[in-house]
Amino acid sequence: MEYRDDRQETAALFAELVNSKDENDMSPEQLRHFAEDLKQLLSPKYQAEFTPEAVQASPHNSLVNRERDLIRSVQLNTRRWLPHLLEGKGVTLDRPHSSVVYRLKGSRMVEELQPPRSKDEEISKKLFDLLKEKRFPFGLCIVCHKVFVQSNKGKSRRYCSEPCKAKGVPSAAKRTEYVREQRQKQRRQELRMVKDILRKWTEGERWQKLQKAFPKKTRRQLLYLMKKAQQKQKKEG
Ligand SMILES: [Zn+2]
Repeated sequence: MEYRDDRQETAALFAELVNSKDENDMSPEQLRHFAEDLKQLLSPKYQAEFTPEAVQASPHNSLVNRERDLIRSVQLNTRRWLPHLLEGKGVTLDRPHSSVVYRLKGSRMVEELQPPRSKDEEISKKLFDLLKEKRFPFGLCIVCHKVFVQSNKGKSRRYCSEPCKAKGVPSAAKRTEYVREQRQKQRRQELRMVKDILRKWTEGERWQKLQKAFPKKTRRQLLYLMKKAQQKQKKEG
């Protein structure tokens, strides 16, 4: 089946549906004719609902019934729109946040937004106006999954707050910085321990105490640490 796309032909089909009898009163030939034409307007996904396999899968809904349902709903919609517009009346479409009225102005259909008809609608419209903004005003925190308000300029944020940002996955640069800081911290603590040992113990006892305090360090590493600690002690007087 070919996807039907011809404007004049499609318009002719809708006009015919408005003008013809109700689906209930149509002859079998008419039903067939409309069903075939309408199916050609459908995408393959929905065309598939009319295949023999689909009918066999749920036989309570026969092919004829499916075709009748399709014709009926299209006829309802077409009749709701075309005669009203052509008579200069508006067609109202209800949306969750407002209603919109369509009207024929000259040879063009225009959309007229209606003022809110209730307080719910009024508030919903406020929300909708925000959602429509060029820059979507909300964000979802990737740490706590709360909705937060995006700033209206600058880069979009991914965290709702500073605490969440701190908890978030640190960037590569931050990670390097963090590792460096941790190493420095560890080094300072080690030096303090070595200085302590140097102060408290005699030269003969120091080595054993150092090995006990740093069981994982090699001799070379311990000698280096000791040297550094001694340099520091000298500097501090
Ligand atoms: Zn958060």
